[in-house]
Amino acid sequence: MNKVAHYLQEHLVGEVMTGADARKYFSTDASIFSVVPSLVVYPRNENDIRKTTRFTWQLAERGRVVPITARGAGTDQSGAALGQGIMLVFPAHMNRILELDSKTGAVTVEPGINYGKLQQTLNTHNRFLPPFPASVEFSTVGGAVANNASGEKSIKYGSTREFVKALRVVLANGEVIETKRLSKRELSKKLGLATFEGEVYRTLDALLEEHKDVVKSLPIGVTKNAAGYALDLIKRKDGSFDLTPLLVGSQGTLGVVTEITFETEMYNPNTTLVAGMFDNLQVAEQAMLDLRKLPELPSAMELVDEQLLKFVQTHHPNLLRGIIQEPLPKIVLLLEFDNQSERVQKKMAKKATKILDKYQVSFRVETDTLKKEELWKIRHSAATVTAYSEGSARALPIIEDGVVPIERFNDYLNAVYELFARHGLQVAVWGHAGDANLHMQPFLDIGQVGDRQKAFKVMEEYYKLVMDLGGSTTGEHGDGRLRAPYLPSLYGPEIYQLFQQVKKIFDPYGTLNPGVKIDVTLNDIKAQLRQTYELAHLYDHLPRS
Ligand SMILES: Cc1cc2nc3c(=O)[nH]c(=O)nc-3n(C[C@H](O)[C@H](O)[C@H](O)COP(=O)(O)OP(=O)(O)OC[C@H]3O[C@@H](n4cnc5c(N)ncnc54)[C@H](O)[C@@H]3O)c2cc1C
Repeated sequence: MNKVAHYLQEHLVGEVMTGADARKYFSTDASIFSVVPSLVVYPRNENDIRKTTRFTWQLAERGRVVPITARGAGTDQSGAALGQGIMLVFPAHMNRILELDSKTGAVTVEPGINYGKLQQTLNTHNRFLPPFPASVEFSTVGGAVANNASGEKSIKYGSTREFVKALRVVLANGEVIETKRLSKRELSKKLGLATFEGEVYRTLDALLEEHKDVVKSLPIGVTKNAAGYALDLIKRKDGSFDLTPLLVGSQGTLGVVTEITFETEMYNPNTTLVAGMFDNLQVAEQAMLDLRKLPELPSAMELVDEQLLKFVQTHHPNLLRGIIQEPLPKIVLLLEFDNQSERVQKKMAKKATKILDKYQVSFRVETDTLKKEELWKIRHSAATVTAYSEGSARALPIIEDGVVPIERFNDYLNAVYELFARHGLQVAVWGHAGDANLHMQPFLDIGQVGDRQKAFKVMEEYYKLVMDLGGSTTGEHGDGRLRAPYLPSLYGPEIYQLFQQVKKIFDPYGTLNPGVKIDVTLNDIKAQLRQTYELAHLYDHLPRS
């Protein structure tokens, strides 16, 4: 690797490090895996990335594959921010807002910018980027784009993909492309290019045409999905073509993003928050289905379950004192309305409380900022689970992101409770009720052989149950290494082969984040398990969950 390091040190403006401590630091993310990179680069600009990729392309042409992994803040729970070759770390230098159009709200940024910082700036212009993840304060927008992240506002506003208008991307050979929706005519021009970009457009377009029917069958019946490649969103009936939705969610396996243009939404902090306390899961599902039919969707529909409340009571008895009373409800549902019109907001909140009344569910309605913050503590108390350790056992992100069709919510939750009971595991559940996208992290000791085996058994059963319910293995966190082995069963062989072909089109030599998403087996990932699980990268901030 020395030769590679020397070449890069000579040709890049950014820093290139090969020291053991830097490599160790970047050998983990927030997943259960560890992969030590051979060197770490802090690119100063796009040119540094072009030079790096061009060099690895030339090496690969001569038979030597040096992988490149782009990295934001390394909060990825699927192991996608790890790699054994060159680690391109964005937050150090490529972290600027390049343009903010205060009229349209469009903003162009470099990928390494901290998401929370961007959000603050947008807020001062009365705008916001709605699909922010719970890790907003300590993750980057580049990571959010690569993972197609979403969060508590996604029920109303959608995932990251819906907000990315355009990208600048460095391809595997060092060419830079700009992506946006192209008209049929613009596409024709791209198809005629004699460059690698032209080849990508030509082969991808031909592939999509040849497998039109398979591509059509790709969407899973869930409201959010971060699994696979979004092949169905590239070409529209009118012949227009856009690589952007494909690159969003591709976890650095198809190209390295250097600039992102987002659309944003009007920001309204004057919301109405309704907290409903449910004693019956069946009733909760019915009420949620009714709430989803409101003329205007709530801007959040979040839940925590009784087990989480019990966990908080035991380990952080003061955290929710005075906020939640005994007997504990089976589910607390938080509904937020952020409509710009106060009249509409009030009307929607009223309609929501009528639904809760119909099901004889007790509730609170708050518009006061402090009172709302207090109620949001219920949902954000899930962070106590991820931050807690019991001896060497930690809440492991192994089954933390399944999503099912909303009408299967109750079946999903019951099946999860059964699964945990069968394995004698503690469970606490929280997440995005309105999308039936639930988070849960069982307490296991990754250093113990028995627990390692149990983790894989639990994963096998969990991913099967999610698929049997017609769901997706990941609503927002991505396939990464963790869920890549389940991708063929999730989509079936025909679609999976298309994914493989798409990967080959963009990355013929396998230099872009190999070991992530495509062609990954359970044996591959078993060999990458960490000995201890901790979140050292996140200790600058309390990890919200
Ligand atoms: C406590 C906790 C809570 C979380 N909550 C949520 C949540 O609510 N919703 C959610 O969606 N996720 C959540 N996550 C997962 C994760 O934080 C998000 O997906 C986040 O957006 C990742 O950003 P990052 O900067 O940490 O990216 P990283 O972890 O550094 O990287 C993530 C992926 O992006 C790729 N990448 C990074 N930069 C680039 C680039 N410039 N070009 C190409 N690829 C790139 C990486 O290769 C990797 O595949 C959570 C994680 C934790 C630990």
